[in-house]
Amino acid sequence: MARTQSESACAGVAVLGSTGSIGASTLDVIARNRDRYRVAVLAARSRVDVMWPQVQAWQPERAVLEDPAAAEELARRVSRAGLATEVLGGERAICEVVGAEGVDIVMAAIVGAAGLRSTLAAAEAGRRVLLANKEALVMAGGLVRAAATRSGATLLPIDSEHNAIFQCLPHFQQGVDVGTLGIERLLLTASGGPFLRRAPASLADVTPAEACDHPNWSMGQKISVDSATMMNKGLEVIEACWLFGVDVDRIDVVVHPQSVIHSLVRYVDGSTLAELGHADMRTPIAHALAWPERIDAGVQGLDLFSLRGLEFERPDLERFPALALALEAARSGGLAGARLNAANEVAVEAFLVGRLRFTAIAPVVEAVLATESTDGDTASLEGILAADAAARALAAEQVGRLAAPVAP
Ligand code: NAD
Ligand code: MG
Repeated sequence: MARTQSESACAGVAVLGSTGSIGASTLDVIARNRDRYRVAVLAARSRVDVMWPQVQAWQPERAVLEDPAAAEELARRVSRAGLATEVLGGERAICEVVGAEGVDIVMAAIVGAAGLRSTLAAAEAGRRVLLANKEALVMAGGLVRAAATRSGATLLPIDSEHNAIFQCLPHFQQGVDVGTLGIERLLLTASGGPFLRRAPASLADVTPAEACDHPNWSMGQKISVDSATMMNKGLEVIEACWLFGVDVDRIDVVVHPQSVIHSLVRYVDGSTLAELGHADMRTPIAHALAWPERIDAGVQGLDLFSLRGLEFERPDLERFPALALALEAARSGGLAGARLNAANEVAVEAFLVGRLRFTAIAPVVEAVLATESTDGDTASLEGILAADAAARALAAEQVGRLAAPVAP
């Protein structure tokens, strides 16, 4: 598809996971900065009803749906409307288009392990990779980092906590141990989710709707449930280890229910730097799109005079056993992250469809991690996917054993 001269001057963005929450926020930021960015690729799983208006509005060079039948339906609509967008189907196509000419920036915002291959492909292709898909780092942080080093790709964190830490670092040097920068500790803030104060005895009966009703952030279902169990914070600790080259014991989780401070960095000279703002993902997205410059994100700055009572507390690992499991996996290293992530994805999915109680999510993960396994290795993508598949099978067995639907 031929591009005009002014379009070519804009950076081409591939938005992977365009039909999701981060995808929508990314398109919103791009819409505010059309002089700098254009949408080169839209990719998602199967939601033609959401993707089709996006294709009409953005007319990208390529649109990809992982589900082949959905891709065919989208192709019919594109052809009827006489648009020049090329429509492709399947996971392989998503991995291929991130390396295509005209793609400068890849927003990796497919949720879960499903985003690993495309995130890795973007790192291999030497793109600026905006990393929302934290599960890719939890599963295969070593591979993603090595691919970026080989290709010269820049990995920029979208997760608000990691983006905040990035902003508080003296200068960003991929692969540099933060210890060499005079950093003592990374302080990762956590809202505590919707069940921070709820009576523990009542947690067995929470519904998916309650678990997804986050007090501060509006997000996709899977990360919302992860926030409710605080598995999300555990995944983020592992993500931070890979992103910033830091050992798990130099990271503290700080429960901060107001979500005003998005994370902090404590230096050896007694300084602690923080990034503050509204709970709106458009801020980290705009930051990573334009870094080291700054662009409009459509987000107001904080009104300090309206802030009341910022609180901080230690996480309660008895109330949130999933966080304890993730910290254990972070210390174990190796394939523990991939196995933890796989078991959690299976358990969360079972909870969302009403097959598993909320309080059974952590026991499923615990049972999988406690089972000895020789499947897989960390040296290759295939090795990691083998560990992922084996852990999923074990988790499915555990779901069968613990299955007890939530009362309607
Ligand atoms: P979401 O559920 O709203 O959207 C997920 C997207 O992934 C959708 O576009 C969906 O079509 C796509 N997808 C799912 N499976 C796919 C597959 N097999 N192939 C292709 N596409 C597939 O999720 P979200 O909240 O936007 O989160 C996306 C990622 O960003 C997650 O990894 C999450 O942890 C991370 N993240 C999200 C937020 C947030 O505020 N939403 C904050 C920090 C990090
Ligand atoms: Mg986060």
